[in-house]
Order: sequence, then C-alpha cells, then structure tokens
Amino acid sequence: MGGFSIIAYKEERGEGPAQADLDKCVHCGLCLNACPTYRELGVEMDSPRGRIYQMNAVANGAPITASYVEHLDLCLACRGCETACPSGVPYGRLIEAARAEIEARRRPAWWERAAKKVVFERLLPSRAGLQAAGAALYLYQASGLQRLVRATGALKLLGKLAELEALSPQAEAPFFFRNLGKTFPATGERRYRVAFLAGCIANVAFARLNEATVRVLARNGCEVVIPAAQNCCGALHVHSGLEEQARALARRNIDAVLGGNFDAILTNAAGCGSTLKEYDHLLADEAGYAERAREFRRRMRDVNEFLASIGLNPELGRLDAVATYQDSCHLAHGQQIRSAPRQLLQAIPGLKLREMRLADGCCGSAGIYNLVHNDMAMQILEKKMADVNATGASLIVTSNPGCMLQLAAGARLYGSGQRVLHVVEVLDESYRAAQAA
Ligand code: SF4
Ligand code: SF4
Repeated sequence: MGGFSIIAYKEERGEGPAQADLDKCVHCGLCLNACPTYRELGVEMDSPRGRIYQMNAVANGAPITASYVEHLDLCLACRGCETACPSGVPYGRLIEAARAEIEARRRPAWWERAAKKVVFERLLPSRAGLQAAGAALYLYQASGLQRLVRATGALKLLGKLAELEALSPQAEAPFFFRNLGKTFPATGERRYRVAFLAGCIANVAFARLNEATVRVLARNGCEVVIPAAQNCCGALHVHSGLEEQARALARRNIDAVLGGNFDAILTNAAGCGSTLKEYDHLLADEAGYAERAREFRRRMRDVNEFLASIGLNPELGRLDAVATYQDSCHLAHGQQIRSAPRQLLQAIPGLKLREMRLADGCCGSAGIYNLVHNDMAMQILEKKMADVNATGASLIVTSNPGCMLQLAAGARLYGSGQRVLHVVEVLDESYRAAQAA
C-alpha cells in the first residue's frame, strides 16, 4: 500500500466496527464458499471469517497495519457472506465501519489525496464536473480516437491503462441531465406519482437506460418526476469510507425529494438503492434529518421491487430469446430482492429465462473495484462468464449499471458477445414490440 503509514491503537480509534456486530460471528466458516476472494485465493485472511477475525483483533487493541488494510481492501463488499451466514452477522455494516476507521486514521500519499478529491468531491457530486467529463469521453469515443487507440494498442505501453480503458463506459449523448426538473405524464390513467433518482455517472453513461426506465414507469400508470436538485447518492463514498461526504449528499437528496408528495422514490441502480435505503442509518444521529431520513427510507424502492408490487401492465409484446439473470449483489444480498426481477422477466411472452450456476455470485464489478483491483475482478469475471456461457443465453440481464459494464466486458472477452441489458430495458423492448405489432 503506497503512502500508507499508520499505527493506531484502540485508545486512538474513532468509531470502528461495533463489538456487538463482531461478536455475532461464531467462526463456523459457512460463509467461506460464498466469498469470491476466498474461492479465488483459498486464503483464510481473504475470507469473511478471516476479515472479521482481523477486525476483532483491531477492535481489541491490535494496530492497523498495511496487511490489515490490504485484506480488507480486497473485499468486494458484495455481501454474499451476509446471505450465507446463519448467525446474522451484518458484514456490510462491518466492512463499511472498518473502512471508515481506516480512512480516518491513514495518511495517504499526496497523489492519492488529490485523486480522491477530484473524484469524490469535484466529479461525482458536481453536475458541471460530470457533464465536462462526459463531454470529453464522448469526444474521445465519437471522434474515432478510442478506436485508433484500441487498434494500435498504444495504451498497452502504459501497462494497466489498457485494461482499465476497456472497462470505460460509453458516453451516451444526449445526456440524461437535460431531463432533470422535468415531469413525464403517465400513459393512460395516473395511478402513482413517483420521483426518479437518475444517478450521477448514469446521467452520462446510462442515459438510454434512464429513458427506458421513465417509459416503462409511464406505461405502468406512473407520473414520473425527475427532481431537479437531486445528486449523487453517496454509495461510492460510503464504500470508500468517506462517510461525512456521503452524509452531505444524503441531506441534499432528502431536501430535493421530500415534500414532493410522492408515492415512491425510485432508482434503477441496485448499488445506489442499497445506500439510499440506508440513509436512515447514515443520518440517525442528526437531529434535523433523522426523521426525514426515515420518511425517505419508507418511500425508497428499487424499480424492480416497485413494478412487481403494483401489478405489471400486461400489454407486453413477444421477445423470442433465451436470457439469464445475474443477481446484482446490492439487490440480492443488500436488499434481499431476488424474485421481483425474475417475475418481471417471466411475464414477457417468448422470453425463456435460464438460470446460471451461482447467479448471485459477484461478477467482479463492485463499484470501482474492477478499476482498483483489476486482476482479481477479471479472474472473477472469467468464471462468471463460464457459468453464463453454459446456459446458452444470448441475453444477460441484470439490475445495476456497474454490473452491466462488467458483464459487457465479460461478454466481449470471455463470452460469445451476448447482449447485456437491465430488466427495465427488456421490459421497454417488450412494450415497444407490442406497440409495433
Ligand atoms: S463481502 Fe464478498 S468479498 Fe467481502 S468477505 Fe463477504 S463474500 Fe467475501
Ligand atoms: S460470518 Fe457467519 S457464516 Fe461466516 S464464520 Fe462468522 S458466523 Fe460463520
């Protein structure tokens, strides 16, 4: 760990993982096979049990060492272990608290501080910053420069940069930002009024997915409001231990949405949804926001969950294809939503859903994990694609933009060029097919 130099003892610690949460682990090991890093490395310290053991040691006075940071850093925070654990160990909470503690204690190198400042403070929370970065990416891709760079292999000279570049999203002009502040009417009778949180990077890289989400909601009797003052949800901040910044973003989103008299607040990104549903924990100690955060949480829904709960408009057209569904970790393990997306896909005439082995095993995306731990992410992805390929599906469906990027890279590198779509994009295609018939 370059630039890492800390030794912190218990008396110097801030908030770390709660001892009561750590004590729930009875060291049975039933979580080990659910852990992608343990399956890859076979190393106890890179298993959930081993990581909890290390957190316990630090909670009881052991120093935070570079090795501790490395083992925790390699965790995908996929929470597969949380689902597998019979003792109810809240692993997601543990890893977030441990990372926040590390972040509070460490003194990173200047370049790391500068990079984090740019990404977490200037880019993700800033509409202008995202628009400028999106425009630059669009120019790089639309001008043909990206094709040239890939064809000549120029980035290979810079080592890892070529692999990271292969994972970069497509900038989808026009960006979804232009819809912020707009209201889209329900198709037919209005049954619900909903707020849609469009994400941060998704405004640039998943503009068409966001538009499809609005169309599908409208087809299901929703008046869809895109609140103008919405912001990045803070999920990447929480996963990186930057809880104070995440709290500031949470407050801004609550201010942007509450008071709009919405039946539901929706997201199409499982990773964002997981954090948005935890605003009540994030702001639990803030007098002015605790109750408002609970109100926000009561209305917050993943789009799959919402559509399955209201009774899907059945005017769906035929799509003749074989699809396989990849559970997004933050939907399956983080929000316990597994049947809703499958139920929606099964409602589509002609679409055959074929389950893959270990469908709820992480694909290696995990926020920015595939960028910072590219080797491990790619090893995990290659195995995931072997399971996808075994189904013979031509369509990989999932519920999180980050997973879509990772799986699209998997389909190119280790698959047969399968299409990768979000559940709402498949529904959108089906509604359009019905209209065209
Ligand atoms: S969150 Fe995922 S990678 Fe981390 S310990 Fe649990 S199963 Fe393993
Ligand atoms: S986290 Fe749960 S499953 Fe894993 S060792 Fe501890 S008690 Fe057992």
